Amino acid sequence: MHLTSLSALFTTALLAFASLSEAVLPGTWPPMDQPPPIKPEWVKLVDKKKLPKAPIQSAQAADCSKAVEFCIWSCNTCLRNASDVSTCPNDKDWGFSFDDGPSTFTPALLDFLKSTNTKVTFAVVGSRVFQNPEILQRIKEEGHEIVVHTWSHPALTTISTEQIIAEIKWTELAIQTAIGLTPKYMRPPRGDMDDRVRSIATQLGYKILMWDRDTFDWKSADDPNYQPSWIYDNFTQWVTDSKGHISLEHDLYEIGATNAPYAVSIVRKAGYTIKPVSVCTGTAAYKENVQLVASGPVPADEQIWGMACWDETLLVTRQMNYQTPNHV
Ligand SMILES: [Zn+2]
Repeated sequence: MHLTSLSALFTTALLAFASLSEAVLPGTWPPMDQPPPIKPEWVKLVDKKKLPKAPIQSAQAADCSKAVEFCIWSCNTCLRNASDVSTCPNDKDWGFSFDDGPSTFTPALLDFLKSTNTKVTFAVVGSRVFQNPEILQRIKEEGHEIVVHTWSHPALTTISTEQIIAEIKWTELAIQTAIGLTPKYMRPPRGDMDDRVRSIATQLGYKILMWDRDTFDWKSADDPNYQPSWIYDNFTQWVTDSKGHISLEHDLYEIGATNAPYAVSIVRKAGYTIKPVSVCTGTAAYKENVQLVASGPVPADEQIWGMACWDETLLVTRQMNYQTPNHV
């Protein structure tokens, strides 16, 4: 895994949308897209004696020689049932998750979700919350789930314990300041985690949110060969097993955000119920007492939207071109 190139891609995307909102979060906050400062009072929240001695990884390439011992997801997609959630446990439940926002593309996605009574999960970056607090407030008010996704989006296995704590806690504080809620789930950027990262997150009160279906839509930002049809093709294939799933998309990138309605339509048409991940897993979304609910039926007058945007002929063509479940 080439973590440096992924980081550069993310930085480029952040800079591209760096001046979206005038109404930034009040108060003094760390710089955008930079490792936030370490605060001693937060460091004390984690007992370092309890942390597994997983080696800090190089940013250039993961050392997978201890992948089994420390359950390094980036090496072998290793998961620990005690801390990690990667799927909805019940058949015909689907958790959509959108990462790296809130961004300029998020409001249009929210418009669609609201018009179709669809509830999903957003894994937000602290820097973006600082930049777009009003969008985060709208996400909350419209009944979606919010998950911590770090302040500056680093590969967590490559940074110190103190830095990981700062990445999580600054994002937690930004979310608390924007909407008054404290998420119970965090998602490691790029899924990069090992047992040290898990232990830190767990000691800070978090479960780790992963996924079992990846659209790779983030590649659309710099890969001219990326085809949006891959998103439809994959979802069309994924729904055929009728099992519960959690999918990964990104509302930071235009292709991921603007094609999400088609993915939602495919999942709905297959008879799935779309739920925030904490609803499909039967767990709490926040430390505060807030009850989220599953998606409801699409309002009758919104069926027109589906007919207008749903081109069955195109879909058949795409299915015929379908080759592999994941275009890695
Ligand atoms: Zn991310």
